[in-house]
Amino acid sequence: MQFEEAFKEVYELVKPKYKLFTAGPVACFPEVLAIMGVQMFSHRAKEYKEVHVDTVKRLREFLEVKEGEVLLFPSSGTGIMEASIRNGVSKGGKVLVTIIGAFGKRYKSVVESNGRKAVVLEYEPGKAVKPEDLDDALKKNPDVEAVAITYNETSTGVLNPLPELAKVAKEHDKLVFVDAVSAMGGADIKFDKWGLDVVFGSSQKAFGVPPGLAIGAFSKAFLEKAEKMEERGWYFDIPKYVKYQNEKQGTPSTPPMPQIFGLNVVLRIVEKMGGKEEWLKMYQKRAEMIREGVREIGLSILAEPGYESPTITAVVTPEGIKGDEVYEAMRKRGFELAKGYGSVKEKTFRIGHMGYMTFEDIREMLDNLREVIEELKREKGLA
Ligand SMILES: *Cc1c(COP(=O)(O)O)cnc(C)c1O
Repeated sequence: MQFEEAFKEVYELVKPKYKLFTAGPVACFPEVLAIMGVQMFSHRAKEYKEVHVDTVKRLREFLEVKEGEVLLFPSSGTGIMEASIRNGVSKGGKVLVTIIGAFGKRYKSVVESNGRKAVVLEYEPGKAVKPEDLDDALKKNPDVEAVAITYNETSTGVLNPLPELAKVAKEHDKLVFVDAVSAMGGADIKFDKWGLDVVFGSSQKAFGVPPGLAIGAFSKAFLEKAEKMEERGWYFDIPKYVKYQNEKQGTPSTPPMPQIFGLNVVLRIVEKMGGKEEWLKMYQKRAEMIREGVREIGLSILAEPGYESPTITAVVTPEGIKGDEVYEAMRKRGFELAKGYGSVKEKTFRIGHMGYMTFEDIREMLDNLREVIEELKREKGLA
């Protein structure tokens, strides 16, 4: 690409320098970046409408949504976290927020900053929510209107047993809100079958698209409740999004068109690969390779066995080595991992498996990680 003198400075800053194993934004498929470079046109043009409708149709299939609605939003995923509360919980109403890490804590703060009340079921970092605990918590708090669950906790690399948890919530007749930001595209979601009411994701995680687009799925029960909710705001008025999608094949305000084109291309790549099952197998294989490699190096994984995430692995550093030190040393070698996050920041670093990467990239990253850990141990006299 030819750059004018004036753009060189910014290009130097943003040009690709690392192989990415980040928590998001992640590396994107070259086909995605290519389509995102097209010239813009009106989002009310019939060509845009066609892409919008096709993207939603492909997402409905991917997320297994027959009854409810799938909508696209000009925001990051957290916007839909806020929308779930403003549209789906009465003012002053209660939500049971399950917390297994930093993003569960964010959900609690979103509940409270919108004038609703949070009841919390919280675990140590590395643990997943247990269905029997959720059952107990709901017996003790029969007045909650909804249960909030982080499907994949990005700070600890734990995948919650979502189908089992949703089943318990449904037995108590509660709405189920799912933060699937780092799960959507990398872990299976069966929206109708599992009885979910809100599921949201972001473009910049497991779909491998640049940031700026959020994706939400909403059940009929949620939409009926939202219709009656007072002062649900303008920007994230979910029934308004449904109306615009049905009548204008678009969104109430201007959508991030390039990201939507990029997502459409990813969903076509999924189809070409042989469908969702094959695509998700790729994620499983990446995760298994990384976990095995990490254990071979002699490091341990924060997630309790059986609940390891398919999209990100939080690794516990050996005594005397900080997560940041591993992150910096890997960066010097051309690999951008993710720093530890939240309460386990010091003693962990994270390896994202999301977006565009090859199995060869993973092998190369693991070889470098082995050397980095050996070097750090030697430097500190730990070896
Ligand atoms: C990244 C992430 C978020 C925040 O998503 P944004 O798109 O930045 O709003 C929320 N929850 C989880 C689990 C995440 O991984």
